[in-house]
Amino acid sequence: MPYQPGRHFLQVPGPTNSPVAVLQALALPTIDHRGPEFARLARQVLTDIRSIFRTTQPVVIYSSSATGAWEAALVNTLSPADAVLMYETGQFSALWHRVAQRLGLQAEYLASDWRSGVNAAAIEARLAEDREHRIKAVAVVHNETATGVLSDIAAVRAAIDAAHHPAMLMVDAVSSLGATDYRHDEWGVDVTISGSQKGLMLPPGLAFIAISSKALAANRSARLPRAYWDWQDMLSSNETGYFPYTPNTNLLQALRVAIHLLHEEGLEQVFERHRRAGEATRRCVQRWGLELQCRVPAEYSPAVTAVRVPEGHSADKLRAAILAASNMSLGAGLGKVADRVFRIGHIGDFHQLIVIGTLAGVEMGLKTAGIAHHEGGVQAAINYLQQVAVNPSGHRQAWNEGDPDALRSSAAV
Ligand SMILES: *Cc1c(COP(=O)(O)O)cnc(C)c1O
Repeated sequence: MPYQPGRHFLQVPGPTNSPVAVLQALALPTIDHRGPEFARLARQVLTDIRSIFRTTQPVVIYSSSATGAWEAALVNTLSPADAVLMYETGQFSALWHRVAQRLGLQAEYLASDWRSGVNAAAIEARLAEDREHRIKAVAVVHNETATGVLSDIAAVRAAIDAAHHPAMLMVDAVSSLGATDYRHDEWGVDVTISGSQKGLMLPPGLAFIAISSKALAANRSARLPRAYWDWQDMLSSNETGYFPYTPNTNLLQALRVAIHLLHEEGLEQVFERHRRAGEATRRCVQRWGLELQCRVPAEYSPAVTAVRVPEGHSADKLRAAILAASNMSLGAGLGKVADRVFRIGHIGDFHQLIVIGTLAGVEMGLKTAGIAHHEGGVQAAINYLQQVAVNPSGHRQAWNEGDPDALRSSAAV
């Protein structure tokens, strides 16, 4: 490959771009995972990550992709042939459902259209029918990365309570954690899973699980076989500041910096930055006259926008043209919407010019690919971002007014 000048625009909805301070932490010398320095690091990240999940309960960290955490959530809390109620929001719910099936669970799947979020009323109705309480867990995806749809987790909790059902609530927060409000404790979630490479702004390689006391109790009697994923081994080692195996020391060093950066910006500011990027992106897409995959405005994702290409066009060809012309990666349509949608990631480490540059690359690509659209999409996004920057609607500061010195000094934590 010849040298391509300028930086690659990585605008897939994960893995996301990492701040320089995070990359620098990755490049630190590897440390002894049985030494005192590691114990200090582990204790700090295992405690501090709780603030991102908004929990006071234990969070375990695995060296794995988030798919490992899907498996870990199920094998640690359930027994062979237990029933699990899952909800079809898109490709990620489908993959979690397949993991449950492969583990021999009775994974019931409430079907939907990949264009809206979890229907809490349907969950409540199904649980109300389950008088013998055969369903042991309800498992849903918070932000469906394949479709750009955000579900209301508090409503799912309320549905379980309204049905007076004892099922655990399990939530995939892989692409919502660190990008939008998430409350493990307040929403009464029993198991929250996440990964490093989305809102947490790290490279791929770490998975997380926040565990409620109810899930921990279930763990003691759960009979699905487990070895690497076992919570008891992990929690008892973590208690001493260590891991039961060699952890990903360098990623944990980077995690410490990433958590620090999120708090330095302020979680509310981080969420507002994502919300505005999502709104700017959708205004642009709507101005173009293209259709959003999400058809429920209250459920628009602040982290990713999935855009449908008109009949007769290929989303994959459009993405390939944009990669060739602008050195920008966009997310592919997955599963049922393969080649029908492309996805614009606005998650992780970005600012408003990155949003505008991304949208400009798409607009140029639409033209090249001969996809009919109205001009002025990028301008609509600029107008919106400018209006909210001037009038930040009660937020502490406009999202683009970071303190660069503070950010640089955070490399030294
Ligand atoms: C990215 C993602 C996953 C899978 O993560 P891997 O690290 O690829 O295993 C799961 N769920 C959601 C919602 C995701 O966005």
